[in-house]
Amino acid sequence: MAGRARCEALKVVARCRPLSRREEAAGCERVVQLDVRLGQVSIRSPRAAPGELPKTFTFDAVYDADSKQADLYDETVRPLIDSVLQGFNGTVLAYGQTGTGKTYTMQGVWAEPDKRGIIPSSFEHIFTHISRSQNQQYLVRASYLEIYQEEIRDLLAKDQSKKLELKENPETGVYIKDLSSFVTKNVKEIEHVMNLGSQTRSVGSTNMNERSSRSHAIFLITVECSETGPDGEEHIRVGKLNLVDLAGSERQSKMGAQGERPKEASKINLSLSALGNVISALVDGKSTHIPYRDSKLTRLLQDSLGGNAKTIMVATLGPASHSYEESLSTLRFANRAKNIKNKPRVNEDPKDTLLREFQEEIVRLKAQLEKRGMLGKKRRRSSRRKKAMDGESATENEGEDDNEDGLEKNMKNYLKEQKERLEEEKAAIQDDHSLVSEEKQKLLQEKEKMIEDLRKEQEATELLAAKYKAMESKLLIGGRTIVDHTNEQQKMLELKRQEIAEQKRREREMQQEMLLRDEETMELRETYTSLQQEVEIKTKKLKKLYAKLQAVKAEIQDQHDEYIRVRQDLEEAQNEQTRELKLNLSISVFWMFSHFPVSPSLPPFPLPFQPVSCLSSP
Ligand code: ADP
Ligand code: MG
Repeated sequence: MAGRARCEALKVVARCRPLSRREEAAGCERVVQLDVRLGQVSIRSPRAAPGELPKTFTFDAVYDADSKQADLYDETVRPLIDSVLQGFNGTVLAYGQTGTGKTYTMQGVWAEPDKRGIIPSSFEHIFTHISRSQNQQYLVRASYLEIYQEEIRDLLAKDQSKKLELKENPETGVYIKDLSSFVTKNVKEIEHVMNLGSQTRSVGSTNMNERSSRSHAIFLITVECSETGPDGEEHIRVGKLNLVDLAGSERQSKMGAQGERPKEASKINLSLSALGNVISALVDGKSTHIPYRDSKLTRLLQDSLGGNAKTIMVATLGPASHSYEESLSTLRFANRAKNIKNKPRVNEDPKDTLLREFQEEIVRLKAQLEKRGMLGKKRRRSSRRKKAMDGESATENEGEDDNEDGLEKNMKNYLKEQKERLEEEKAAIQDDHSLVSEEKQKLLQEKEKMIEDLRKEQEATELLAAKYKAMESKLLIGGRTIVDHTNEQQKMLELKRQEIAEQKRREREMQQEMLLRDEETMELRETYTSLQQEVEIKTKKLKKLYAKLQAVKAEIQDQHDEYIRVRQDLEEAQNEQTRELKLNLSISVFWMFSHFPVSPSLPPFPLPFQPVSCLSSP
C-alpha cells in the first residue's frame, strides 16, 4: 500500500564559507554577498564594468560565513530527517567547487561537537527520536559507498577490490547488488560504521584530497518502523536517507592532474555532467526523456530527482574573487535545481522489509525456545507489553523475570533439573541388584547417551537463545532498548531552537513574498495625483526595468560563453577518443594480419568491426 504523493519542489540552500587564511593573507577580494533575511546571494564579477549590477539569486535559505552547523541543520535538514522517520525517502546533496565546504557541511569536524555536520547530527536526531517514541519498533541500518570513475566501491566491505553492480527491481527501483549494510542500535554503533567507511576511503587512495574531490561519497541510512495502525493491523514504514558529498564541480581541465588521459578525466566528469543534464531535462518542461541511465550517480539518485523523495541541495561557495567563475556556475546550477518537482510519499508496507524478516525470525526462534520450555516467564512479559500497546498502563522492568537474564536462568534451571534427574536414574540402576550385569550395562549406556544428548541440546539451546537475544536487541523500542538521556531542560532548549528556526523560515518566506508583491503593485499603481508624480514613478520603473534588461543580456552572454567552453571541452575529448580508437584499430588490424596472412585463394577474413579509414589502407 502506498501513501498519496504530493508535488514538492527541491529545496535549495546556498552556503558560503569564510575566506580561508591563505585567501585573507593574499588580500583576496570578496565577491559574494549574502542576505540571510531575504535568502539571497549576490555575486559581483571582479571584472565588472562600472555601474554593472551584481547577479542575484534567491534560495530557500542562505548561510553566511558566520552560520553555525546547527543553524543549517535545525532550519533546513531537521524537517527532512523527521520525514524520513515517518517513512519518506530523503536526500541531501552537497554540490560545489572543491574546497568550498561540502565535506565540512556533510561531515564537519568530528572532534568539535558544535562543528559536526549533517551526517553526525542526523545520527543523534534519529536515535533520540526513537528513544522518545512509543509503541513503535524500529530497525536502523547503514551503508557507505563511493563512486569513483564510474565504479561503485563498498566502503564497508572487506574486499575493496570488488566493483559493485547496479540492479533494478520493478518494485523497489534501483539498488546496489551485494552492498553491505550494518544494523545499528545506537549513535555509537552508527558512528563506528561511518568512521570505518571514512578510513577505508582514505586508505584506498594514494592522494586522498584528489580522490575525495573527484569521487561521490554516499552514506545511506534506512529506517524501518513498525506500528499498529488504527485498523488494528501492524504496518511497516520505510524511510531511506541518502547523504551525498558530491565530487568537486570545477571544470576538470583546470585541475591540471598529471599523467591523466582525457578518457579518465571524462569518466570523472561523467556522473556530474549527467546530473546537470538530468536536472536540465527535468526543468525544461519539454523533455520526455530524462537521461538517468547516463551515469551511476543519476541512476542511484533517480528517486531523489523528480521522484519519490524529499531532496535538499546545499550549494557551497567560496567568497573570493578567484572563485568567481566556479561560484557563478554553482549558483546557476543550484538555481536550475530549484525548479525540480518531486512526488514524495510514505513508503508503507513495501515488500521485503528487513524489520519484517527480523520479526518473523524472532517469532520462529521464540517458538523453538518455548518448545524447549525456555520462555515460560518471557511469555508473561510479552503479554504485559501488549497491554501497554493497547493503552493500559504498565511498567517495564518490574521484576527479576523481566530481566534479559531471565531466559538464561530459565534454561539453566531446566537443564540442571534434567541432568540431576538422569544422574539419579543412573545411580538407581547401579544400585538395583535385581538386574543382571549385562542388562545393567545396557541401561547405564542408555542413560549416558541421554546425558550426552542433553549436553548437545544444551549447546544448541544456548546458541538459539544467543541468536534470539541478539536479534531482539536489534529491534529498537523507545524507552526500553534505547533510553533517552537528555534531560527536560535540554529537551526544552531543543524545542525552542526548532521554534526559532521555523520562525526564521517563515519570516524569510514573507520577505521574499513582499519583494515580489512590491514589484507587482508598482505595475498596478496606474493612477497618479500629478504629472510630476507620474514622471517620477515611471522613470523609477524604467530604471528598474532597464537594469533588469541589462542583467538578462549579461546572463545570455555568460550562458553563451559557457556553452562555447563546454562545447570546446567536449570536442577535445571527442578528438582524443577518436585518436585512441584509431590507434586501437590499427593495432588489432596489424595483429590480425600478422597472425592470419591473407591468401588470394581465401575469402576475406571476417573482421569483428569495419574500421573504414584504417582498412582502406592496409
Ligand atoms: P570540499 O569538501 O568542498 O572540498 P571542505 O569541506 O574540505 O571542502 O572545506 C575546505 C576547508 O574549508 C576546510 O578546511 C574546512 O574546514 C573549511 N570550511 C569549509 N566550510 C566552512 C565553514 N562554513 N566554516 C568554516 N570553515 C569552513
Ligand atoms: Mg570534500
